[in-house]
Amino acid sequence: MERQIKKELVKFTRYLAEKGLISGSEGNLSVKVKEGLWITPSGRIKEFITEKELCFINEGGQFIKGKPSSEWGMHFLTYKKNPHIRAVVHTHPTYALSLEALGFSFREFSLKEAELLLGDIGVLSYFEPGSPALWEFASNLARSYKVIFLKGHGLITLGASLEEAVNLTLIFEKLCKIEWLILTKRRR
Ligand code: 13P
Ligand code: ZN
Repeated sequence: MERQIKKELVKFTRYLAEKGLISGSEGNLSVKVKEGLWITPSGRIKEFITEKELCFINEGGQFIKGKPSSEWGMHFLTYKKNPHIRAVVHTHPTYALSLEALGFSFREFSLKEAELLLGDIGVLSYFEPGSPALWEFASNLARSYKVIFLKGHGLITLGASLEEAVNLTLIFEKLCKIEWLILTKRRR
């Protein structure tokens, strides 16, 4: 079981890196288990991580194995406040961040399927990456949204499984890409 979880965590982390949703050391992923959570290590090029490098944090927030992501508290508090959530995915998606710079509101996608596939989208003001303020506010929004855009920083998606959280990230960024193409074409 634990072997399977670690395998999945590595598989989806590498996949998001290959797809360009995270570059270099950006982003972090975690999965909740009974005794704590498994999370990606801090500062590593995510495309190359291995099962051996994955980190474990127990229910009390103690680092049991490895040097976990600098956003570990965001993952930890999200699980603590939302027991139904089993996976957290944090990325820095290119089109979503570019759209923000154009002033796009993530509640106004042109394609109606956005609402259907993503539900309401939470938007959080800028807080410094890795800061307890970011962890606190993001984990509070996780009570109401599965997709949360972090202004000036990136995205978090949540799921009852890692596949669900990764899927939301991929769909959100795809919709942002379409929106970007529509908006930049109109501007020409
Ligand atoms: P870590 O490599 O420490 O997880 O940091 C990446 C990141 O996206 C910080 O917000
Ligand atoms: Zn980040």
